[in-house]
Amino acid sequence: MNTTIIGYPRIGNLRELKFASEMYFRGEITAADLEKTAREIRSYNLELQKKSGLDLIPSNDFSFYDGVLDTAFLLNAVPGRYTSLGLSKLDTYFAAARGYQGEKGDVKALAMKKWYNTNYHYMVPEIDDSTEIKLVGTKPFELFAEALESGVRTKPVIIGAYTFLKLARYKGNKKAADFISQTAAAYSEILKKLCGLGAEWVQFDEPSLVMDMSSEDTELFKALYEKILSDKGGVKVIAQTYFGDVRDCYNELCGLGFDGIGLDFTEGKKSLELVKKNGFPSGKALFAGVVNGKNIWRNNYATSLLTLTELAKHTEDIVINTSCSLLHVPCTLANETKLEERCKKHFAYAEEKLTELEELKRITASQCPAETEEYRRNLALHSEPRTGGNEVVRAKVASLTDKDFVRLPAFAEREKIQKARFNLPLFPTTTIGSFPQTAEVKSARKSNRRGALSNSDYEFFIEKKIAECIALQENIGLDVLVHGEFERNDMVEYFGECLDGYIFTEKAWVQSYGTRCVKPPVIWGDISRARPMTVKWSVYAQSLTDKPVKGMLTGPVTILNWSFPREDITLKESALQIALAIREEVLDLEANGISIIQVDEAALREKLPLRRSDWREDYLDWAIPAFRYVHSGVKAETQIHTHMCYSEFADIIKDIDDMDADVITFEASRSDLTILDVLKENNFRTEVGPGVYDIHSPRVPSKEEIKSAISKMRERIPAEKLWINPDCGLKTRGNEETVPSLTNLVEAAKEARNEN
Ligand code: GLN
Ligand code: ZN
Repeated sequence: MNTTIIGYPRIGNLRELKFASEMYFRGEITAADLEKTAREIRSYNLELQKKSGLDLIPSNDFSFYDGVLDTAFLLNAVPGRYTSLGLSKLDTYFAAARGYQGEKGDVKALAMKKWYNTNYHYMVPEIDDSTEIKLVGTKPFELFAEALESGVRTKPVIIGAYTFLKLARYKGNKKAADFISQTAAAYSEILKKLCGLGAEWVQFDEPSLVMDMSSEDTELFKALYEKILSDKGGVKVIAQTYFGDVRDCYNELCGLGFDGIGLDFTEGKKSLELVKKNGFPSGKALFAGVVNGKNIWRNNYATSLLTLTELAKHTEDIVINTSCSLLHVPCTLANETKLEERCKKHFAYAEEKLTELEELKRITASQCPAETEEYRRNLALHSEPRTGGNEVVRAKVASLTDKDFVRLPAFAEREKIQKARFNLPLFPTTTIGSFPQTAEVKSARKSNRRGALSNSDYEFFIEKKIAECIALQENIGLDVLVHGEFERNDMVEYFGECLDGYIFTEKAWVQSYGTRCVKPPVIWGDISRARPMTVKWSVYAQSLTDKPVKGMLTGPVTILNWSFPREDITLKESALQIALAIREEVLDLEANGISIIQVDEAALREKLPLRRSDWREDYLDWAIPAFRYVHSGVKAETQIHTHMCYSEFADIIKDIDDMDADVITFEASRSDLTILDVLKENNFRTEVGPGVYDIHSPRVPSKEEIKSAISKMRERIPAEKLWINPDCGLKTRGNEETVPSLTNLVEAAKEARNEN
């Protein structure tokens, strides 16, 4: 069996691409400097994969921002508002990714969405009736040639035609089906070009095939590939799927002229069953995703071997693969200098997964796989007892009953009590929690970690920042304040550090969007609250002002979703353990005089199973209760807020209402406020703050812009339920944008109030 991977992380072992890009954005380095860093990362990754023995190495998995955006540029699907700015190619690309505000114009970024069920985000291509899809870009060809020059005939990877058309947003009357011939022609041309350059294999990523597919979808998929594959030159084409199984199109997929089919045997619940029941077409290669591309635990060779052996009964041509791109795991364990060996030996990041593939290859090649040294070492590792168990926590989780998940009195009564208590103006203004994490804040934290700044000096510094932040918000005139979250490196890691059962990595960065990376902590054992997490900061902040200051916590589902989860207990079990700990903190805040508590569930939507039939049982049936349990113990007059990034919850709107928070804030500006209609149609009960401007972009929204967002909201949301706020935390922004933006926001709210 040969080996391959679907893609490798591109940010660099030490986030070199992030830092270079940010320097470029600030004008500190030239485009040529940035290109040089990019080339170095690619060449490093290539050498590494070559050395690892990987048989088929991907190319074009590199991106300056996002692979879907790259595909839009490749295919001429870029709105004129970016191309007409008159910027360089690279800057036009960044304008679409991040928005542009400068001497050449003022445009917002393209919409951004979560990539399937991951915490990665892609840029949503926009297609209108005048869009002409055709091959205009050169990146896959350049990167293939670059690798070939270094002696590697790579497998170029490109987002496939079906997935591309499914992910695009259609602005005019035309739909995906209207672009079939143009798109197919462009992809055929890509194949022929790559063939001409010497490519043997090309990988088209088609994760959309693991979603629920309508018959229209299947038709679209077939129509595209019948055309593309009938005219593909001499290359071999892989349809690479991931994040699930292809139960809705397995037969179509096998029937088309692909030379390889990539299936996910890690997350694809039915992948193995599909192959067993339907067989696998002869003459095609099966790319078998057995090494988990999303988690950091070492592969269990016994399990993988079982799958591969089963598959071998149905096809001779198996390529051992990762389950998805390694983009979703950190680069290398080599930089984890502080992690204890007893933990480290259980982990495999991207680089170590290359070794796993190589070992699996050796194992499967052996006459007696179970006798091989690699297999036996792995078996021993997995038989070792590992987790720090906590019987008390387990017993508590086991003893929860229905009434533990219900907050009393009911919403409507609480709303009245809270209106009387807080006496806020109409359209109260607030923010989502964090204020800019300036260089000053980050460097203080670093010094403290290094021991150069004592704990008491660090705490003094944080208090000073909190005081500045409170003063700033009072000056601007916001109604409900926040302490600014200066003590947090990250909304999950910070909490993890106060919880027993978590462990932390040093350099395990994973790309979230563009230059933004996250460092998910690892759930190692049973979770419990080791100490109060935020009480001190919230109480201090509240002592400085008469206005309410929101306590600010991360919710259990988000903590779980943004961590690397255990694989030895269920997600539900972990979520409830975390809920227990966060509930303790909520009650502690309340007891210490904090009257409004926000429990962020930023990531609740993103782990919703991709298939509707799995939504309840696999997720919502425990995720919503976990949140409810966190706040079911507070008094009626304590106001519970929650926040969600992205408002793509039209389908689960009832469940969101059923979280039974008093107020919810969420992203709306980037998705054209479409969520508002859904709220209205569903008589959404929870008070809402749909973000009035996009904080993911450095643009400063004008007062008029915000007012127009507010009036659109007013048409669908009862005035007494509407809050005015940005669409997410401000930590990634600078003060120079934040202060004018919030000033405009407060002004706009005041005017709207007066006009009401
Ligand atoms: N309270 C967090 C903040 O403001 C929420 C962040 C998020 O939703 N991603 O930073
Ligand atoms: Zn958010």
